[in-house]
Amino acid sequence: MHREQSMQIIRAGRLLPARADGYTGAVCVTVGDDGRIAAVERIDPGTLEPSEARLLLMPALSDAHDHGRGLSPLAYGAADQPLESWVVALSAQPQVDPYLNALVAFARLAESGVCAVNHCHNTQDGTALLAEAEAVSRAARDVGIHVAFAWPFFDRNPLVYGPLSPLLERLPEPLRARYATPRAMRSCAENMALFAKAKAFEHDLFCLQYHPVAPQWTEEATLGAIARASARDGRHIHTHLFETERQREWADHAYPNGLVRFLDDIGLLSPRLTIAHAIWLRDDEIALLAERGVTVATNVSSNLRLRSGMPPLSRLIDSNIGICFGLDGMALDDDQDMLRELRLARLSFARDPRLLDAFVLNASWRTGRRTIVGEDGGGDIAVGAPADLFTIDFGTLASDTLLEVPQVFPLVLARARRQHVVDMFVRGREIVSNGRCRTVDLPAAERLLVQNARAAYRAMPVACDEIDALQRAIEDYYTCGCHFAV
Ligand SMILES: [Zn+2]
Repeated sequence: MHREQSMQIIRAGRLLPARADGYTGAVCVTVGDDGRIAAVERIDPGTLEPSEARLLLMPALSDAHDHGRGLSPLAYGAADQPLESWVVALSAQPQVDPYLNALVAFARLAESGVCAVNHCHNTQDGTALLAEAEAVSRAARDVGIHVAFAWPFFDRNPLVYGPLSPLLERLPEPLRARYATPRAMRSCAENMALFAKAKAFEHDLFCLQYHPVAPQWTEEATLGAIARASARDGRHIHTHLFETERQREWADHAYPNGLVRFLDDIGLLSPRLTIAHAIWLRDDEIALLAERGVTVATNVSSNLRLRSGMPPLSRLIDSNIGICFGLDGMALDDDQDMLRELRLARLSFARDPRLLDAFVLNASWRTGRRTIVGEDGGGDIAVGAPADLFTIDFGTLASDTLLEVPQVFPLVLARARRQHVVDMFVRGREIVSNGRCRTVDLPAAERLLVQNARAAYRAMPVACDEIDALQRAIEDYYTCGCHFAV
């Protein structure tokens, strides 16, 4: 990478274009003072340094659904398992500094070529949501990537989807009494008031979205209030929907006329809405969502690890609905590798992967980006587009090619991993160089996060027996079909 005039020139031996048949040769990109691309020139590859010639330049990726888990659930014993018991295991998470937790998560994403992430916030301390949002806002600024903070609205079914009493009957006595009064949840009015205050934390790289966590976890009146608020202020809404079969079963009993139809009736379905997972959608629901301009963020790695099923990618693509991809804090190798997630997504479509190379990349570059920052012309290497770009070491990816002109798309989609990321720019600012995040000291932040988490974990009483008992009771609750009794 050759830099002049405060890193405003980016030169690379190859370019990955938005179209599969676009120009893939050597390129020189000039970035203006406004952080947008001022010029894109095809150049003679012979003029490049060897270190530039091996680079492939492309728009930076988006991670359209995540949770900012700097500390992995595996660290505190929440092993991969079906979602309904996994969420119980998450209660063993020790309190950590929300700034540090988000900083580590965002810096790892940056090193994976991600310039924009949808951060669905899970509170560590429900009474400290405002302070946690401020901390995440600071982490976004310090790392330097775009973050949409999805503000959680969670005021329904805290333990199981359905009536509580059958669960209590399945718990041993000391726990029965404890869980008979579920923990206090924020009311919609209180949450909206906090949301209004949190707008003060917004900056160039950080914006708020409404996040009804999922219909089974959000009161109908709250969903309606969010739909109205979004229609008024134009803010995006992000929700989980139909992640597991049990959620589907609950919804079919709670909404005999259809949950998706209900969400449409209250005005929630619009181009401002993104739904995560969407595994258990029916065809008529996909058609309605597509008609309303809703976007789907799929999470294949997470779905495999939590045994949720596979997203209906081929049916989604046939409906022309907007599709994008997210890591959900649950990458296949627990390493926040967005490039591998794209590979998995591409292979999950039941059709010739060659037809999907450009589609999958554009879904990350443009569709996912749009759900995070809105339509800003990004996700393209063109004059006027934001200079949110990254390079990978294509020389290594193509080291065994026999072709005079290597096939760029297939090699990237089949082989690229986070280890191949060389540089990443957000609005022309260098966030990653030579594979390392330069804006913050990630290794030091990781060490401190783990050190603090260990101390907090030792100090807190982790009731493993209680977690086990609750997981057994919940499993029995759903096996017996208690969630049908609504
Ligand atoms: Zn999620």
